[in-house]
Amino acid sequence: MASDEDIEFFSRELESFIPDRVFDAHAHIYQRDHSGWSFEGMPEEVGLAEYQSFIEDLHPGRLAGALLIPYTQPTIADGTARANQFVSQQIGGHASYFGDFFISPDDDPEWVRQEVLRLGLHGIKCYHTFSETKPTWEADIPDYLPESIVKVAHEEGLVITLHMVKSRGVADPSNLHWIRHYCQSYPDMKLILAHSARGFQPAHNLEGLPQLTGLDNLYFDTSANCEPMAHQAIIRHLGHEKLMYGSDFPISHLRGRSLAVADSFVWLHEGNAVWDTAFGKIPAVLVGLEHLRSLKWACWSERLSDSAVEDIFYNNAAKLFGL
Ligand SMILES: [Zn+2]
Repeated sequence: MASDEDIEFFSRELESFIPDRVFDAHAHIYQRDHSGWSFEGMPEEVGLAEYQSFIEDLHPGRLAGALLIPYTQPTIADGTARANQFVSQQIGGHASYFGDFFISPDDDPEWVRQEVLRLGLHGIKCYHTFSETKPTWEADIPDYLPESIVKVAHEEGLVITLHMVKSRGVADPSNLHWIRHYCQSYPDMKLILAHSARGFQPAHNLEGLPQLTGLDNLYFDTSANCEPMAHQAIIRHLGHEKLMYGSDFPISHLRGRSLAVADSFVWLHEGNAVWDTAFGKIPAVLVGLEHLRSLKWACWSERLSDSAVEDIFYNNAAKLFGL
């Protein structure tokens, strides 16, 4: 899967930066049938073993555990049930691997509690595509993460992986309100704001994050965000102890990067015309490698010590999951 350019990029940019132990706090495993996902060069079923093999492209020899997140779409019959069953079955018997339970907002909270326990899972995954609000990209958090399920997460001590939406991300007043309300009302639930608070446009993090200080149960995963300033805003406003590395596998294995523009962001993918420039053709590298370099630049710019970098890559997650 890794190209010559990926291998060179890793040894030039990342080999001396990434610590010996890596916990991946945001990775997806899936079967094509229940996810609708199919990626070039990957099998139709990507379970724990396949994930462990592919992730070697990003940080060879370092993986020490992960939070594995199911993926499905509302149009796929029994998608959530099959996705949850798959993650449960894959992590079974692996002490350093944890799993989220994919909810639909109309799930009965007591049923969610029973299923999470029955399947041996550790967290909740919600996604805006399951919201009734259209377009779902503008949904308020409770539209896809109801308070009644957050209460269950609090009572059972679960994490919640939240990829918030709305055009201005964590600078949006509704998102800020619900994050604060959920964290303050349900202190034993641990809220993880995915993609460095979805700060693909870091200006939103610089504006919103100062309003989220003082919440002990609020965390962040870095997954797929390729903007150093997005991670830096978290480190500087909330502390590096709140930040956990995440690959967002299999998104990590597309080629390109997220790019902040105007008051928003775009995704540059391999197929876009931008790589063929006047000065030559640029070989795109894996999103996961671009992501890791952005995290390196954030740590360097914030003058983090080696031990603080080790916290982001392992210790913070180990503490959260009781490893
Ligand atoms: Zn993801």
